[in-house]
Amino acid sequence: MVKQQDSTQYKWENEEELLSYDKEHVWHPYTSMINPLPVYAVESAEGCKIKLKDGRELIDGMSSWWCAVHGYNHPKLNEAIINQTQKMAHVMFGGITHEPAVELTSLLVDLTPEPLQKVFLADSGSISVEVALKMAMQYWYSKGQKSKNKMLTVRSGYHGDSFHAMSVCDPDNGMHKIFTGVLPIHFFADQPKCRFGEEWNPKDIDSLKIQLEQHHEEIAAVIIEPVLQGAGGMWAYHPQYLKELRTLCDEYNVLLIFDEIATGFGRTGKLFAMEHAKVVPDILCLGKALTGGYMTLAATMTTQEVAEIISKGEPGVFMHGPTFMGNPLACAVAVASMKLLQESDWQKNVRRIEKFLNQAIHQLAELEQVADTRVIGAVGIVEMKEAVNMAEIQAQFVDAGVWIRPFGKLIYIMPPYIISDDELALLTTAMASVIEKMD
Ligand SMILES: *Cc1c(COP(=O)(O)O)cnc(C)c1O
Repeated sequence: MVKQQDSTQYKWENEEELLSYDKEHVWHPYTSMINPLPVYAVESAEGCKIKLKDGRELIDGMSSWWCAVHGYNHPKLNEAIINQTQKMAHVMFGGITHEPAVELTSLLVDLTPEPLQKVFLADSGSISVEVALKMAMQYWYSKGQKSKNKMLTVRSGYHGDSFHAMSVCDPDNGMHKIFTGVLPIHFFADQPKCRFGEEWNPKDIDSLKIQLEQHHEEIAAVIIEPVLQGAGGMWAYHPQYLKELRTLCDEYNVLLIFDEIATGFGRTGKLFAMEHAKVVPDILCLGKALTGGYMTLAATMTTQEVAEIISKGEPGVFMHGPTFMGNPLACAVAVASMKLLQESDWQKNVRRIEKFLNQAIHQLAELEQVADTRVIGAVGIVEMKEAVNMAEIQAQFVDAGVWIRPFGKLIYIMPPYIISDDELALLTTAMASVIEKMD
């Protein structure tokens, strides 16, 4: 009798073999294929702990890039995936609908501000940004204002790695140089300078205002990450900026897109960062924590008005429809994650983490290697004076029993909301000792 193969049994004899094949063939995010940064083999993850194949356990400071807000291997999220798998893992979304997608849509409509009523389910954050930009352009196209097809954004932003998303990322620390001539050219205003929690300076909006004054006839929309800029610089700015921005967008007939892919679902202390400013955009992008870090899924939400204009114009439909749109597994786990968030005391947890970080992170500002420290919600950021040696620092963090992945000058943490104070202390103590040792 042929022995039944267990398809979850992998063939690697040991960790070295796995890592050596990986090094030769697997392309990791932002790495060289000839001189790759080291990677660590993970066996499993549970709660706030990532367990390496060599047996070491690391406290997770990253939530796997903003996603795993409830921690890893959560019984309720596991259950949602398992139950859905037994019904169907996927069916096409063209001409078909299903409970997970409709239920998720209704949760999103209920959780977000009233005007956001229409939901496009996309398969990743970058794609939801593509969809948002396309919606904005198709809106003006349908209105017969075809010259309004450029975007305006602020410097230091990050909106994803696909081409149009890249074109609205920061033009200096993004990828504009490599793709000059290919990337569409958009308009950039200065980065908002007034810090979150400090006094508002009305001059902060001037640069953006000038861009709108000069170019509004070509501008379809302003796209911005509300209150907290993520991967483009980890910078928290004054919510008043968004209030002024909303007024200017209305004044100059320009749509407003909020990219809450990183900030959504409680990370900054409000369910959505836009709530700090009480401003509602015309289009909203959500992703990352949407599925509690289980699967890739994103959503682009918009208003009745935008949806109606697009649908009344030529060609009468919105021109987008990815193969895995509304994937039932992803939607099912997103529904479970959202319910879990609502049932949990996430606000209390985020406030607790913020209070802890306010003490522990700001204390590091005194170190001579440190240029600046920032805390907002469950995010703690240390900006160094010099860019760090990632491979070296990463190894030191792993040796200290924590998973923290810096980039450039930034060493930052955004742990799962369920992290305990003791685990938090391990993260911040490791940050302090690793930074102190740097020369
Ligand atoms: C991560 C991120 C994206 C891109 O999402 P992907 O799922 O990685 O494509 C877009 N915008 C912001 C603000 C992000 O943080």
